[in-house]
Amino acid sequence: MEKQDIVIVGAGIFGVAIGYHILKENPGKKVTIFEKFPTCGQGNTAKSAGAFRNVFSSKTNFLLADTSVDFYLDIHRQGHDIGLEQAGYLWLMSHSQLERNKDVLAKMQHNGVKLKFYEKEELKKIMPYLNTDIDPADEEARMMGLESIEKGVFGVKCGFVDADKLTRFYETEFKKMGGQVIYNTEVAMPLLEPREKLGLECEPLIWQDVEITGVRLKSGKTVNADKVIIAANSWAPNILDPVGIDCMIKSVKRQMFVLRSQKLAPLMKVEGFNQFNALPFTIFPKAAIYIRVDRIEGSVWASGHEHFGAPYLFEEDPKATDEYYDYNIYQVLRKYMPMFDGLKAANKWAGLYDMNTLDANPYIFETHNVIIAVGSSGSGIMKADAAGRITAALYAGRKEAELYGNRKFEVATLGLKHRNVEPEKFIL
Ligand SMILES: Cc1cc2nc3c(=O)[nH]c(=O)nc-3n(C[C@H](O)[C@H](O)[C@H](O)COP(=O)(O)OP(=O)(O)OC[C@H]3O[C@@H](n4cnc5c(N)ncnc54)[C@H](O)[C@@H]3O)c2cc1C
Repeated sequence: MEKQDIVIVGAGIFGVAIGYHILKENPGKKVTIFEKFPTCGQGNTAKSAGAFRNVFSSKTNFLLADTSVDFYLDIHRQGHDIGLEQAGYLWLMSHSQLERNKDVLAKMQHNGVKLKFYEKEELKKIMPYLNTDIDPADEEARMMGLESIEKGVFGVKCGFVDADKLTRFYETEFKKMGGQVIYNTEVAMPLLEPREKLGLECEPLIWQDVEITGVRLKSGKTVNADKVIIAANSWAPNILDPVGIDCMIKSVKRQMFVLRSQKLAPLMKVEGFNQFNALPFTIFPKAAIYIRVDRIEGSVWASGHEHFGAPYLFEEDPKATDEYYDYNIYQVLRKYMPMFDGLKAANKWAGLYDMNTLDANPYIFETHNVIIAVGSSGSGIMKADAAGRITAALYAGRKEAELYGNRKFEVATLGLKHRNVEPEKFIL
C-alpha cells in the first residue's frame, strides 16, 4: 500500500468522525482507516444505549456534548436520518440525592445546561405506575438502601440517536471526500523505526533515534504514514503498550438488557415530557440504573452499574449475564416500577467503557507522531463530533479548535501536559 498522509486505527464513531473532520479541513489528503471488524461502528459504538445529553458537571464535557448535539440536531434538520429524538433525560432523585447534588445542579445551570424540575405529584400524574414512595416496612427495599423519589430533574437538550446511523453518516461523508476504510484488517502496533536504518533485524537499537512511521498490521504487512491516529477505544492499550506509549485508560464492563412484554406497554407512550410522547432516558435513584425505550422494537433497555468494586478488566468479547440483571438491576427496577415484576431479559449484551479514571473527560493528545483520541468514558456517541474537530485541529497544529456553532476550544485542555478539566460527577 502506498504511503498515507494519515492512518486512523478504529472505525467506531470516534474514528469516522475524526476522519470526516480531517478530510473536510484537508481535502485531497490520503487518509485510511483500518478497522478489524467487517463494518463501521461494530465495537463499543454498537453496544451503546445511543443516548445523548449535555447534562455534565464538567464544563469541558458539557461543551463537547453540547456542541456535538447541536451538530447532530443540525444534520437531523437537514434531513439525514440519524434516528434523533430529543426526548430528554429524567433523573428521578431522592431527597438525599437532591441535597448532595444541589451545588452541582446549580453550577450546571449556570454553565448553560437547561434543566426542568418535576415535583413528585407531577411525576405521579404523568407516570401513575411509578412507585415514588418506598414503603418503610419493605424489608428488601430497606436492605437495598432504596429511597423515595422526591423530584424529577429533566435535561432538555438530551435524547436518543441511532448510533449506527450516525456512524454511517460520518463514514459515508468521509468516503465521499476520498477517504478509505479498510475493514477486516487489524493493526498490531504503530511502526517504530530508526531515523537512520542500518538494515539489521534487531533494530531499533537503544542508541538509535526512533520515530513512528506508520502501522504494522496483524498480517505482518506495514503501512507508512506521516501521522497515525489511534481511535481504538478500550483496545488502544493493546496497540500502544507494545511501543511503550501509555494512553491512560482502563476498561470497565457495562451490560445492557432488553425487556419485552405487554406489561411494559404504558412506557411506549408517555405524555408530559416531550412532543414525541416518549419516555425520556430515565435514571432511578440507585446504582445509576436506567431504562430507555425502543419504540420501534417495542422494548425497554435497562442498565446500571456499581459505584465501586467493578473490576478494571479488558475483555476482547465481554458478555452480559442473566445473573447481573436478575440480582442487581431487576431488583431495583421492580421496586420503582412494579410492572417489571417477573420479567426476564429477552436479550443482552456487554461492552466496555474506555474510562479516563482521572476526570472522565476524553484524552486527545499527540506523542511521538501518534495522536491518541480515547477516554470517552461511556459518553462517546454524544461527544464524537467535538472529538473529531479537536483531533483535526491538533493534527493541523492549531492551538484552538472551532467546535460546531463557532465555539472555541483550547486543544491542550484535553492533553496530558496542560490538561485543564474538572472531574466529571455525572457518569452513567
Ligand atoms: C453498554 C454501553 C452503553 C453505552 N451507552 C452510551 C450512550 O447512551 N451514549 C453515549 O454517548 N455513549 C454510550 N456508551 C459509550 C460509547 O459506546 C463509546 O463512548 C463510543 O462508542 C466510543 O466510540 P469509539 O469510536 O471510541 O469506540 P468503538 O466504537 O469501540 O470503536 C473502536 C474501534 O476500533 C477498532 N479496533 C480496535 N483495535 C483495533 C485494531 N488493532 N485494528 C483495527 N481496528 C481496531 C474496534 O474494532 C472498534 O470498531 C455506552 C457504552 C456501553 C458499553
